[in-house]
Amino acid sequence: MIRADFHIHTTFSFDSAISPKTLVEKLVTHPSVKVAAVTDHNVINGLDTVRRLAAPYPDLLIIPGVEITTNQGDIVILGTEELPPKPWSVENVVDFAKETACVSVAVHPFREWGLGELARNSGVDAIEVLNGASSVWANRQARDLAKTAGLPGIAGSDSHSPQDLFSVYTEVQADLSVDDILKAIRKGIVSVFAAEGSIHF
Ligand SMILES: [Zn+2]
Repeated sequence: MIRADFHIHTTFSFDSAISPKTLVEKLVTHPSVKVAAVTDHNVINGLDTVRRLAAPYPDLLIIPGVEITTNQGDIVILGTEELPPKPWSVENVVDFAKETACVSVAVHPFREWGLGELARNSGVDAIEVLNGASSVWANRQARDLAKTAGLPGIAGSDSHSPQDLFSVYTEVQADLSVDDILKAIRKGIVSVFAAEGSIHF
């Protein structure tokens, strides 16, 4: 079993204060969360730096990813090392994830920039049912949607500041490998948790 934060912004996002160095340091010192997905806004170029810094630590795993701003709401793609082709419609982004064996996630569906009810029939592989930056109400709506749509639910801190890292996390019944983790998400062998002391605990 591994613990992962599937939604993290680094300084390669225009709005985050988390440097790659800080992210890796926080992973190294955290007692149990050892897997982090880098999901910057519309860019992939932070991945190499984070991976290089994490390379000396065999117990850490960096999952490549990106958060795409589509015309109807944000979608995180987990597992990708490249951007989907434009235009960034929901359909194009979801199709790209399927074709490349990645996992598409409707993140914070009931917050600003979320897909809302559209997530239900969008073809995404999973719903972010616990987002560290969403209200309790918005997360509850997301959980209900995942349940009624029969989709796996994952957690991501959506952190933009170091103190918000790992505020929520996902337990995954998987080995420390990107493929294994993506497979486990698709199968739904995942559970979401809020860290003690976070507003969602
Ligand atoms: Zn985000």
